[in-house]
Amino acid sequence: MRTVITGGAGFIGSHLCDHLVARGHEVICIDNLLTGKAENIAHLMGNSHFRFIKHNVSDYIYVDGHIDNILHFASPASPVDYLEYPIQTLKVGSLGTLNSLGLAKVKKARFLLASTSEVYGDPQIHPQKEDYWGHVNPVGPRGVYDEAKRFAEAMTMAYHRYHRMDTKIVRIFNTYGPRMRIKDGRALPNFMYQALRNEDITVYGNGSQTRSFCYVSDLVDGIYRLLNSDEHEPLNIGNPEEITVLQLAKEIIALTESKSKIVYKPLPIDDPRIRQPDISKAKRILCWEPKISRDEGLRKTLNYFKDVLSNNLIA
Ligand code: UDP
Repeated sequence: MRTVITGGAGFIGSHLCDHLVARGHEVICIDNLLTGKAENIAHLMGNSHFRFIKHNVSDYIYVDGHIDNILHFASPASPVDYLEYPIQTLKVGSLGTLNSLGLAKVKKARFLLASTSEVYGDPQIHPQKEDYWGHVNPVGPRGVYDEAKRFAEAMTMAYHRYHRMDTKIVRIFNTYGPRMRIKDGRALPNFMYQALRNEDITVYGNGSQTRSFCYVSDLVDGIYRLLNSDEHEPLNIGNPEEITVLQLAKEIIALTESKSKIVYKPLPIDDPRIRQPDISKAKRILCWEPKISRDEGLRKTLNYFKDVLSNNLIA
C-alpha cells in the first residue's frame, strides 16, 4: 500500500503516518508546515517507508508512481489558527480538496477526507447524527473553516457520484493528545499550559458550553477502520462523553495540582453551545468505539506537554 497523507506533519496527520507505517504502508507525507511541525515526523525521517514532501496542497500536487490511498488532512484546525489564516483555510478546504481528489482520480486511489463536527455549526440537534445538516453562519469568523469543510464534503461526494471514486468522509470531533501544539489556542492545551505555569485559566463565556473529547489513538483507529470499509457517506468519529468547558478546566487543575484560578473571558463569536457525537453508525458499521478514558488521555497528554515545557519546545 502506498498512501499519501496531506497535512501529515500536523497533530492528527502525524499519528496517521505512524499508524500506517506500522501497518506496512509506504507513506508520503505532504505538508507546507503552516501549522504542522517537522518535529512531529522527525522520528520517521530516514525510514525507507516514509517520505516527506514540503508542499502547499492548495497548489497543484505532483507525486510519481502509483498511489493506493489519499488521506486529505491538511488544514489549520484550531479556531485561533483559522482566524489567523482565513484565506489559507478556505483555500486548503476547497482547492486543496480539489487537487487531492484530482490526484486520487488520476491514480485510481481511495480518498478519505478529514471533515469536522464544525459542519454542524452551533447545532440545534443533540447529540449530532450524520443526517443532521447543521446550523452554520457562513459569513461569521468561523465560516472560513466550516464552509470550506462543507464544500470539501460536497466536492468529495460529487467525485464519488460522478467519477464513481471510492471516497470516505470522517467527521472528526474534538480530539486531543501528544503533538497538539501547546499554544494552538484550543481549550485543552491552553488549560494545560496555564495550569502547569500556575497562570489564570481562561474560560470563555460562563463555561457551560459543552464539548466531547476523544483521545487521538481512538480517533486514528476509527479512521483506519473507515478507510478499509465500504462506507461512502459521512461518518462521525469522536468520544460521546460530553463535559462542560468549566468541568474540563476543573479536571485539569485537579490533575496538575495547580494553584491556577479560573477567570472568565468573552465567548468567541458563533462558539457552539453544545457538541456531542452520535457514534451509533460507527459502532454499527466499523465495530468501533473509543477505549481511552478521559482520565487516562489527559494524563498522557499532560506528560507530553510537561516535556514540551521542560525542553522549551513551545511554538
Ligand atoms: N475555550 C475556553 N478557553 C480557552 C480556549 C477555548 O473556554 O482558553 C472554549 C471555547 O470558547 C469553546 C471550547 O472552549 O467553547 C472549546 O474550544 P476549542 O478552541 O478547544 O475548540 P472548538 O471546539 O471550539 O473548535
